[in-house]
Amino acid sequence: MALPEIVINLEKIKHNTQIVKALAEAAGIKVVAVTKGCLGDSRIAQAMLDGGAEMLADSRLENLARLRLALPGIPLMLLRIPGLSQAKDTVRLADVSLNSDLQVIKALAAEALRQGKTHRVILMVDLGDLREGIWPENLPGLLEESLALKGIEIEGIGANLACYGGVVPAKENMGQLELLVEDMEKRFGCTFKVISGGNSANLPLLLAGQEQGRVNQLRIGEGILLGCETVNRQLLPGAFPDAFMLRAEVVECYEKPTMPLGEMGQDAFGNLPQFIDEGWRRRGILALGRQDVPMEGLSPIDSRLKIFGGSSDHLLVDLTDTPELMVGSVVEFNVRYGALLGAMTSPFVQKGYI
Ligand SMILES: *Cc1c(COP(=O)(O)O)cnc(C)c1O
Repeated sequence: MALPEIVINLEKIKHNTQIVKALAEAAGIKVVAVTKGCLGDSRIAQAMLDGGAEMLADSRLENLARLRLALPGIPLMLLRIPGLSQAKDTVRLADVSLNSDLQVIKALAAEALRQGKTHRVILMVDLGDLREGIWPENLPGLLEESLALKGIEIEGIGANLACYGGVVPAKENMGQLELLVEDMEKRFGCTFKVISGGNSANLPLLLAGQEQGRVNQLRIGEGILLGCETVNRQLLPGAFPDAFMLRAEVVECYEKPTMPLGEMGQDAFGNLPQFIDEGWRRRGILALGRQDVPMEGLSPIDSRLKIFGGSSDHLLVDLTDTPELMVGSVVEFNVRYGALLGAMTSPFVQKGYI
């Protein structure tokens, strides 16, 4: 197999899905498995389904199209609020979408009527993270107008935290969501089927056995793919952190200094690099760069090995304490979310499955 390569352990993904599902089920919560971290890969999606997920979600219509084709009949959710230009494909490819804008919701409704479908909508409220969602006090207006539309069903209310503002899901904001839901139900005489409370940052609440109000759905990506919650990146009990492993090849290995020589200006990315003088080291170059993965998301599996830095196509590593590694050797890494996303979306990284 050509390198670099990301090796995907489907059994571990299935297992992690089971762990997350059991955790959620104990609190009466359904898990929507999120595939956006892996380019909507249908084999990974199948492993999530095998692990008990009943619905799949992705932020990109292109990924949903791939899932729709490979896994017909599986309910699909669009995570990123669709734009006006995406109304047609959203109705075509997604059974349910997260929304916050009346104009877009009207376009979805019109498109659903045209396609002879009912499109399900979850209205997103912003509980303070300042990404998507209508401000809570404006929800009644949006809801009133949306409920009057034909072609769509307002399936529920949703929220998303910890993505932009880093706001942690907690008793207070989940309680606020519950109050909001009950207020809307009373005001409009409706009952929401789905309260979609958040993402992998809600997992610590589950682990602690804490109340999440009326939340009965979570959209979980990283928790399944990398087996961790996303507030402190703690491993979920019993989950695998290493369902993915990145492999790259050593293409040069020489003794060189750690301090560059000569007058210093900007690096390839416009930054002024900083160096620590560690004397002469055995420096390896891997055929791996920012076109493949962001190096910040990589950790070498062999702890004797350290990353110096890198550029678009080269990763510089300290091989002083791993004398057995030389040109032609393969170095293996665990990936964090950024590196997983990079590797899965880069056309240069081969995908291998075990
Ligand atoms: C990405 C995303 C998720 C999943 O986030 P994870 O941290 O990977 O669990 C859930 N909801 C929305 C709206 C998202 O964009």
